[in-house]
Amino acid sequence: MNKLLDGISASATVAFNNMAKKMKQEGKSIVSLAGGDPDFETPKRIRDALSSAVSSGKTHYCDSRGITPLRERIALKLKTENGISCTADNILVTPGAKYAIYLAVMSICSAGDEVLLPQPSWVSYEAMARLAGAVPVGFPLSASDNFILTEALLESYITERTRLLIINSPNNPTGRVLTASEWEAVRSVVKKHDLYLISDEVYEKIIFDGRKNISPASFEDIKTKTITINSFSKSYAMTGWRIGYMCAPKFVTELCYLQLSHEISCTNEFVQYAALEAFNCEEESAAMCAEYERRRDYLVQEISSLPGFKVIKPEGAFYLWVHIEHENMDSSALAMWLLEKAGVVTVPGDAFGKGGEKCLRLCFAYSFSDLEEAVRRIKKCL
Ligand code: PLP
Repeated sequence: MNKLLDGISASATVAFNNMAKKMKQEGKSIVSLAGGDPDFETPKRIRDALSSAVSSGKTHYCDSRGITPLRERIALKLKTENGISCTADNILVTPGAKYAIYLAVMSICSAGDEVLLPQPSWVSYEAMARLAGAVPVGFPLSASDNFILTEALLESYITERTRLLIINSPNNPTGRVLTASEWEAVRSVVKKHDLYLISDEVYEKIIFDGRKNISPASFEDIKTKTITINSFSKSYAMTGWRIGYMCAPKFVTELCYLQLSHEISCTNEFVQYAALEAFNCEEESAAMCAEYERRRDYLVQEISSLPGFKVIKPEGAFYLWVHIEHENMDSSALAMWLLEKAGVVTVPGDAFGKGGEKCLRLCFAYSFSDLEEAVRRIKKCL
């Protein structure tokens, strides 16, 4: 067995999601708040565009970097919406943001390089660093400080092997959105230590209370060190389509292109043509965000009123990070307890690294009635 796979287990969120689906198929009475998969249908005009693309024969191998019209449209979006000056040459289209992040980590890191991960963080970053032979350096952000990231904290984990910092805002699982001053701290550390920065912005359009996403690649002085990751999955309810992208300095996209061309040849051609239509679906995307905000408000109010349950109001993404005070139970035991006693599936916090020990992640990309049922069951079992 390849030693790089030592100690890597399957994604916890995927595992818990699959478990919930299996239990439902077996006829068990289960409410799942586990997966990060919107319950909305992909907007109709994107589905129609897919049918047209297939009917008109867009069913072949295509440019490994992504079809030109899509790369040009993504570059235009990044310029106008995110303030990133780029061209189609900086864009690589991938089957999902997950693969784009993996390619970027593989391109940047050599064996022994350290990858800084403020935690709790998305489950796959650590595994990706390990697969590249690098060393993930997870460090906890303080929940009592609303997970604020400071320059001093970042500095305290920098060594001469630090190569890459990965930031995800809006954040899975905490729902935090970095402020302008936190981004200034990141900018300063990236510049001072000549690090690479991966900015995972897959939840950029799921952001609440009028906040705005900041893209660090718009800072001219760190632009050549920043890889922006984005996806159609969450913004347009297109998780199953598997389409995302990166925007990076050309030499990084070229290194990623090399790998992609050998590993998968290209992203599905017809899916890329359909994805072009997503840029005409901002209204639908905003409506989904408004509904997520309504669900957030409901869940925050209900869960925070339960004895021993502490929550931090999410500022973006569609997850509620819940701290549960219980002397004898860690996060896995808490998740099993909720599953067995209430039939509610959640994801244990320790899957997200440091700071998740007594926590659970509840996803609110499920229908309002599912959320109400989950709350009813949790109240009953308490
Ligand atoms: N990044 C984060 C923070 C995520 O939560 C996810 C999916 O859950 C991804 C990336 C992967 O997105 P995609 O479906 O585009 O691969």
